[in-house]
Amino acid sequence: MSLALLLACGAALAQPRLALPLTIVMIDGSGWTRERADSALREAAAIFAQCGVALETAGFHIVEVPAGRMDFSTPAARELARAHPVVRPTLYLVRDTRTRPAFEAEAIGRGNSRTRPEIADTVWMTAGVRDPGVALAHELAHVLMDSGEHSDEAGNLMRNETSKQNRKLSAAQCARLVDKGKANGLLN
Ligand SMILES: [Zn+2]
Repeated sequence: MSLALLLACGAALAQPRLALPLTIVMIDGSGWTRERADSALREAAAIFAQCGVALETAGFHIVEVPAGRMDFSTPAARELARAHPVVRPTLYLVRDTRTRPAFEAEAIGRGNSRTRPEIADTVWMTAGVRDPGVALAHELAHVLMDSGEHSDEAGNLMRNETSKQNRKLSAAQCARLVDKGKANGLLN
């Protein structure tokens, strides 16, 4: 075996193992259940394993909020973040969304949180979201990369439309997600 080949094998084996500790806040009465959340987390973890990233649950909080604040809107989100401070990054499981256009899942990175710093590094998913595991991985990838960019590649996780079939991350996407995530203190 040539030295070059040995080095190549060594590099493949030395894939970094990075932990992505995610805190979960589930709104009581939102329609979310612990089982559905756990199944989404398992599916997202399988997707992130492609990049050598281990998605872990860092805490699971069930929070009661007034009936008028169960849906995502920037003011409701800011108030919730202030009232129940938890470690970032955080997944919030809410009932619905009041934003228009209405997205079933949203990512708030650093770039789109300058006027709402309380909710930087968060993902929000409504109870009606389709393919919650893929949607969670897609939104978390936006947060880690701190980018709203999408991909046209067939089967890619970052295609505009999330679907069960779109779960691939390219080497370049993994590299960006790992570098940015580490720089922003979201991976360790
Ligand atoms: Zn997206």
